Amino acid sequence: MNNFTRSGILFVVSAPSGTGKTTLCTNVRQTPDLVYSVSCTTRPQRPGEKDGVDYFFMGKSDFEKKMKTGDMLEFADVYGHYYGTPKGPVLEHLAAGRDVLLDIDVQGARQIRGSKDPKIQEALADIFIMPPDLEELRRRLEGRGTESSQQIAKRIQAADAEMAEWKSYRYTILSSSMEEDLIKFRAIIRAERYLSRRLDLHHG
Ligand code: 5GP
Repeated sequence: MNNFTRSGILFVVSAPSGTGKTTLCTNVRQTPDLVYSVSCTTRPQRPGEKDGVDYFFMGKSDFEKKMKTGDMLEFADVYGHYYGTPKGPVLEHLAAGRDVLLDIDVQGARQIRGSKDPKIQEALADIFIMPPDLEELRRRLEGRGTESSQQIAKRIQAADAEMAEWKSYRYTILSSSMEEDLIKFRAIIRAERYLSRRLDLHHG
């Protein structure tokens, strides 16, 4: 009897704010055998968000402590607040053969692509979600109603710069409806799981 085991995949998803990525990731989180990495952030908690589920909300000094002790796989300043991925849990899940989903910005994705750790390199599958256009993005952000008009302007400007980075990602999903985006995302997850190089054969 031949036994196959598989190493964990590190799915890194980036998309400009308002692309619907959070909703997409919430749906993808329901995929069996996929662990969502909860980030740390210094940004204020939004209504409906749960500490430890959506983010670990913390003060600037606690965040900086984690940065200095090397507890972050990556971190970035996004719209004036710190965001970072706790390293320990990600490495543990990957080593145990569990897939991990990271919802991070383009700066964070760049740091992960540049990681010297061969385990991270092998595990990585990065995906960019491309919004239809900036006007549609503005409509979606305004419809969400969680940011002020000043914050929306800042995010639209940032989106423009972020969209220029799509070619650095292994996959690009051209965003249309949430259903379509989810189908494409699941197709990527499946294909990555079937990659021969991710499989190990144990003779028993
Ligand atoms: P929001 O404040 O809307 O939840 O997130 C703002 C941006 O920060 C999004 O683009 C999101 O992907 C990004 N982000 C969330 N967590 C992390 C993280 O741990 N690291 C980095 N680099 N970006 C993150």
